[in-house]
Amino acid sequence: MEIKDFTIGYLKNEYKKRNISPKEVLDFVFNRIRLYNSKINSFITLTEEHAYKSVESLKFEEVDLKPLWGIPVAIKDNMCFKGFKTTCSSKILENFVPIYTATAVQRLIDAGAIIIGKTNLDEFAMGSSTENSAFFTTSNPWDVERVPGGSSGGSAAAVAARLVPLATGSDTGGSIRQPASFCGVVGFKPTYGTVSRYGLVAFASSLDQIGPFATKVKDAEVAFSVMSGKDDMDSTSHPYEFSHVDKNIKEYRIGIIKELYETKGFDPEVLDSLNDVIGLLKAEGVKVDFCSLPHLEYSLPVYYLVATSEASSNLARFDGIRYGLRVEGKDVIETFSKTRGQGFGSEVKRRIMLGTYALSSGYYDAYYLKASKVRTLIVKDFERAFREFDCLLCPTSPTTAFKKGDKTNDPLSMYLSDIATIPVNLAGLPGISIPSGLDNKGLPIGLQIIGRPFEDNEVLNFANQLESIINFEAQPQLGGI
Ligand code: GLN
Repeated sequence: MEIKDFTIGYLKNEYKKRNISPKEVLDFVFNRIRLYNSKINSFITLTEEHAYKSVESLKFEEVDLKPLWGIPVAIKDNMCFKGFKTTCSSKILENFVPIYTATAVQRLIDAGAIIIGKTNLDEFAMGSSTENSAFFTTSNPWDVERVPGGSSGGSAAAVAARLVPLATGSDTGGSIRQPASFCGVVGFKPTYGTVSRYGLVAFASSLDQIGPFATKVKDAEVAFSVMSGKDDMDSTSHPYEFSHVDKNIKEYRIGIIKELYETKGFDPEVLDSLNDVIGLLKAEGVKVDFCSLPHLEYSLPVYYLVATSEASSNLARFDGIRYGLRVEGKDVIETFSKTRGQGFGSEVKRRIMLGTYALSSGYYDAYYLKASKVRTLIVKDFERAFREFDCLLCPTSPTTAFKKGDKTNDPLSMYLSDIATIPVNLAGLPGISIPSGLDNKGLPIGLQIIGRPFEDNEVLNFANQLESIINFEAQPQLGGI
């Protein structure tokens, strides 16, 4: 058996022709994990036994009916999968086993996907490098001295290293798109509300979205079409129905976000790559112009008030009584404080303290309320831009993957790496990162495409065509496929 291409389309075709079986693909996947995972450390849990049992119950007659029939998938370890640990890379949930499965995960399974394991993340998805995991740091497959980005670093690295063709991530301020950019893969954050958050451990509920990682845009589209749609278990989920569009790239009017082009702090090579893409688009006859989002500069402060406030409230449930770790104290208050003191890492504590402060009596108006108002101004900036343009383009991240340890002592510089992704969450828009080239160190550069709310299909269609034009075929030197 030979696997020439690690995409859903290829695997399904081979399955249909009976050239390979899902069991053989699992052998291939677990073999690669045994070979390479020790270098990359993508996985917290492997669900090998479950996976082999699941392929046995696949019925060949359903290969055409189920879009993900026999496709191995890795799940970020902040999404519940019944019977297997969901740790959020935190000591406080180190031994927590959920009694139900997240809707998005269940929909993947119902479409024929085989869950092969749970991937590493920054604790409770707070971070941009996976260095905040309480267990270990994931390495970037392109250079193991460097971070894979975060917080969904385990999923991004696993797809980049071709340990699995598809993985899930969650994105609150960039956690799918930024690691996708650092790892040279596709990462898609859908419109807020299109994918149910039921069973996703909440970080910031007005920002969190689940989405896929894949090597190609088409695969991200298949996964999104399966995961999205109304779910009664999540009151913020939207009655969204995905439909594929086939519109020629020439029909799109493209805006380049001026504030993320002229600002300092962006690597010249990252901007060169964007310029190359602009050149390619113009050569195709696409209309490209600059657009301005004047309130974008407030995105980071707004995000770090809204996200931390919501986090401080969401994480109150981890008290040693209801879930996970419990460290006994002499009374209930001491039990709370010992459990939380020992269970949470320092970044999580920082955010809980910031958020609790911002929400506290007398400060709420000055911080949370004001941030919410400025958030509306950012939403309006995007609305204005989308009157003139169909999609907006910018680098996904100001830099390529940085070295481990480079930013761990400087939270602000870590926060700045999400400057281009955070505004998209604040406005609830769909955004995708696709690889656009390599820098002079041989590290991948990501390009972000942003669309109107609920026009996820347009973003995916544009990204799919641009991906063929860019034709990025490079893979990390691990023994590629
Ligand atoms: N890096 C951002 C943060 O630390 C975003 C994280 C995320 O999207 N989960 O909050």
